[in-house]
Amino acid sequence: MKKLKIAIFDLTDCEGCELELINLREKLAKVAEQTDIANWRFASHNHDLGPFDITFIEGSPITEGDIEAVKQARAASRLVVALGSCADLGGLQASLGAKAWTQGLKEVYGEKYQTKSKPPKPLSYYIDVDLHLPGCPVNQNELANFLSSLIMTKRPEEARFPVCLECKAKENSCLFLAGKPCLGPITKGGCQAACPSRGLQCWGCFGALRGGNHHAFKSNLEKKFGQEKTKSLLKNFFSNQEEFKSLYPREE
Ligand code: SF4
Ligand code: SF4
Ligand code: SF4
Repeated sequence: MKKLKIAIFDLTDCEGCELELINLREKLAKVAEQTDIANWRFASHNHDLGPFDITFIEGSPITEGDIEAVKQARAASRLVVALGSCADLGGLQASLGAKAWTQGLKEVYGEKYQTKSKPPKPLSYYIDVDLHLPGCPVNQNELANFLSSLIMTKRPEEARFPVCLECKAKENSCLFLAGKPCLGPITKGGCQAACPSRGLQCWGCFGALRGGNHHAFKSNLEKKFGQEKTKSLLKNFFSNQEEFKSLYPREE
C-alpha cells in the first residue's frame, strides 16, 4: 500500500497541539510506519515542499507571510486539516477583536510601533479547510482516532453531540447545580468532558455545537450571570463562529 505523505505546519500559537501529537508516542510511531512525514519543523529534519496527501496546520495566520504560506500549503495538499482551536476557530487570541488587538499592541510596544500582524482569524478565513480537529489542545484519543481513520482512508467524523453528553456519561455532578457557569450544553463534544470532570467549567474550546439552541442557552446564562459575563464567556472561543455572530450581530 502506498504511504500517505503528510506535512505538519505551525503558525502563531503555543505549539501545544503538536505536543499532543508527540505525546501519542507508540501510536505516533505506528503512524510514522504507515505514512511518510515529509515536512514537520517541530520533530523532523525533512523539509519536502509537496505535493502532500494530508497537511495539518496548527496556529492562526497573522502576517502576510503566514497567509502566503497557508495558500501554498493548500495548493500543495489534497486534504488540509485545521489542527487545534487556533487554526480551527482563531483561538483565544481572536476573542480580542480587531480594535482591542491594535490597541493592545500600542499599549505594549508604544504608539509608534508599526505591526506586521493582523487580528487572528481561523484558517478557513483564508483557505478552504477539509477537516477540523478542534480543542485547546486537541484531545489525544480524538487525535489518535482521527489519524487511524485517515490512514484507513476513512473520513473522520465530527462530533455532533455536546460536551454534556460525555459529562453525564461520566456521572459528573453538573456545575450549574453549584451555581457555576459552563458552556458544555452548546460546545461540540470529543474531549470526554475534560474540564467538568476536574470540577472546571467548559470554556468552549471545541467550538460551538452545530444545531445547538444557542439563543435559549444565552438567555438562561444571562438570567443567572448577567449580560456582560455571558458575552465574555461566549466570546472566548466562539467569536469567529456564525453562532456567536447570530447572538451578537452588532459585534465587530
Ligand atoms: S489550540 Fe491551544 S494548545 Fe493548540 S496551539 Fe493553539 S493555543 Fe496551543
Ligand atoms: S457540568 Fe457542564 S458539561 Fe457537565 S452536564 Fe453540567 S453543563 Fe454539561
Ligand atoms: S470541557 Fe470544554 S473547554 Fe474543556 S477541553 Fe472540553 S471543550 Fe474544551
